[in-house]
Amino acid sequence: MKFYQEVTNQSEMDGLINSIGNFHDSMTKEIHIINRGAVLHDSKMLMSHQFDAQVLIQSQWKPFAVEMLFIDVLELSIQGAGEYFGATGLVRQESASAHSEIRKIEMKFDSSFKISSGQLFYRVQSEYLGMKARFTSEVPSPKAIPAKMLDDNWRQCSSCSDAWEANPNDVYSICPKCLSITELDS
Ligand SMILES: [Zn+2]
Repeated sequence: MKFYQEVTNQSEMDGLINSIGNFHDSMTKEIHIINRGAVLHDSKMLMSHQFDAQVLIQSQWKPFAVEMLFIDVLELSIQGAGEYFGATGLVRQESASAHSEIRKIEMKFDSSFKISSGQLFYRVQSEYLGMKARFTSEVPSPKAIPAKMLDDNWRQCSSCSDAWEANPNDVYSICPKCLSITELDS
């Protein structure tokens, strides 16, 4: 996740919202949601269910576009597409037990797009304007383990040492042997 910044407290949330003019004159361009569980090719179900969402917001104001990663999505609601007047965000610490707290991130774009999750990361992607789809590979994950570049199209998993062919432009790729999500070392 070397390209992403994490929002861990309210002041970082306020900083994100301020950094793009409170998301005034912005819109949701693209959402890619993945479940980290799966039905495998042998019909067994991998029970690591968790929704992670990659969201692209485009804005008429600098820095024009931001990619957000909502990790472990708890709630998501969309009521139509349109232009946003603004966004609000809350970072809550909720007690899970007497000794531990869990973080809950909530964001609302007007009242038409609401999302809450366990973690939020973001990355300015100023060039992500226009019509074209940008999210064409695996949804990034903070749980990704390193993969080593072997040559242009081949990479190797740091966990099981398996090697596989993947598009060198895709930083994230699933190891076909151990099924870990991997992040290419640069
Ligand atoms: Zn592996």
